[in-house]
Amino acid sequence: MQLGSFIYQYQPNRVVFGVGAIHKLADEIEKLGCTKALILCTPEQVGQAKQVQDILKDRAVAIFDQAVMHVPIQTANAASDLAKELGADCAVAIGGGSTIGLGKAIALKHSLPIIAIPTTYAGSEMTPIYGITENGIKKTGKDMRVLPKTVIYDPSLSLSLPLEISLTSGMNAIAHAAEGLYAQDGNPIMTLLAEEGIRALAQGMIKLKEDDQDEQARSQCLYGAWLCGTVLGNVGMALHHKLCHTLGGSFNLPHAPTHTIILPHAIAYNEVARPEVTKIITRALGVSNVSAGQALFDLEVKLGLETKLQSLEFTQEDIQKAADIAMQNPYWNPRPFDKDNITQIITDAYHGTRPE
Ligand code: NAD
Repeated sequence: MQLGSFIYQYQPNRVVFGVGAIHKLADEIEKLGCTKALILCTPEQVGQAKQVQDILKDRAVAIFDQAVMHVPIQTANAASDLAKELGADCAVAIGGGSTIGLGKAIALKHSLPIIAIPTTYAGSEMTPIYGITENGIKKTGKDMRVLPKTVIYDPSLSLSLPLEISLTSGMNAIAHAAEGLYAQDGNPIMTLLAEEGIRALAQGMIKLKEDDQDEQARSQCLYGAWLCGTVLGNVGMALHHKLCHTLGGSFNLPHAPTHTIILPHAIAYNEVARPEVTKIITRALGVSNVSAGQALFDLEVKLGLETKLQSLEFTQEDIQKAADIAMQNPYWNPRPFDKDNITQIITDAYHGTRPE
C-alpha cells in the first residue's frame, strides 16, 4: 500500500440506522434539546410526514409540504418564515434530496438544526452542500450549519420509492463514490467508504430488481447511499458531476437518470489516468477483465436502466451546445481534457454505446 499526504476532517453528525428507526425520532429530537419541530416534505410524501407528526405528537408544530426540486428561493423563504412564525427550534426533513435541500436552506437562514430522514439514495443528508435557485440560476455553496445534526435511515421508508427511481437514485449515489476515488483532496478513509458504498448499492440494487419490497435489499442500498453521500460531503467531485450539472442546469434533464447515463463514460475517460480506480470499482462490482466504465455500463444494462441520452429530452444538436457550456468554466479533473474529449463523452452517452 502506498500512502501520500492527506487531510481528513471528521464531520460531526449522528446516524441512527435500521428498520423502524423512525420511531426513535422523538428521543433524537430531545437529545438535541429541541421541542418544536417543523416537518418538511414534498406534496407526494404528505403521508410519511403525517407519520412523523404522529410520532412527535405535540413536539410537531406544523407540516410544510411544498418542497420541490432545486429549492426555489420563494419556497425556501416561505418555509423559513413559517418556521420563524411558529417558533420552530428544529426542522425534520423527510424525503429525498429536494426536501433535505429545503431543510438546508432554512438552516442557512435561521441556523435551525436539521434532522434528516432520507427516503432516496441521493446522499444530501451527509453533505454541508446547499443549493438555492433564484431567477432560474441554482447557486450552490458549502456551510457546516446546513449539515443535518442527526440522520435517521429507516429502510422501510424507501419501500414506496418506485423501482426505476430507486435504481437511478442508486447509480447517482455510486457516482459520488466513483468520483471520490480520484478526488484531488481524496484520502484513504473516503476511498474505503467509496468502495464499500459501491459494493453495497450494487448488490442491493440487483436484489431490488428481483423484489423491490425486499427489506434487506433496501437496507443494503440505504447503507450504501450513506457511505457514498459521506464521500460526496468530504471530497471534491470532477468531470462527471460537472457534466451532469451542465446537462441538468442548461437542458433541464432529470438529475438521477442523467447521472446514470453519463457515469460509465466519464469514469471510462478518467480511469485511464488513475488505474487504481479500475481495480477498486471492478472489485466492488465483483467483475474482472473489464474496465470500470464497462463494469458500470454492464451493471446498468443488468438493472434494465436507460443508457442513452437521446431517450431523455436531448437532441443531437444539443451535444455541441453542451460541450461548449461544459468548457466555459474550467475545473480540476484527474485527466486533462479539451472540447473534443467532452464532445466524444457526450456523443457516446447520447448513443448509449458500451465504453471501449
Ligand atoms: P427528490 O428529492 O426530488 O425526490 C424525487 C421524487 O420522489 C419526489 O417527488 C419525492 O417526493 C419522491 N420520493 C422520495 N422518496 C420517496 C419514497 N420513499 N416513496 C415515494 N416517493 C418518494 O429526488 P432526489 O434524487 O432524492 O434528490 C435530487 C435533488 O437533490 C437534486 O436537486 C440534487 O441537486 C439534490 N442533491 C443535493 C445534494 C447535496 O449534497 N446538496 C446531494 C445529492 C442530491
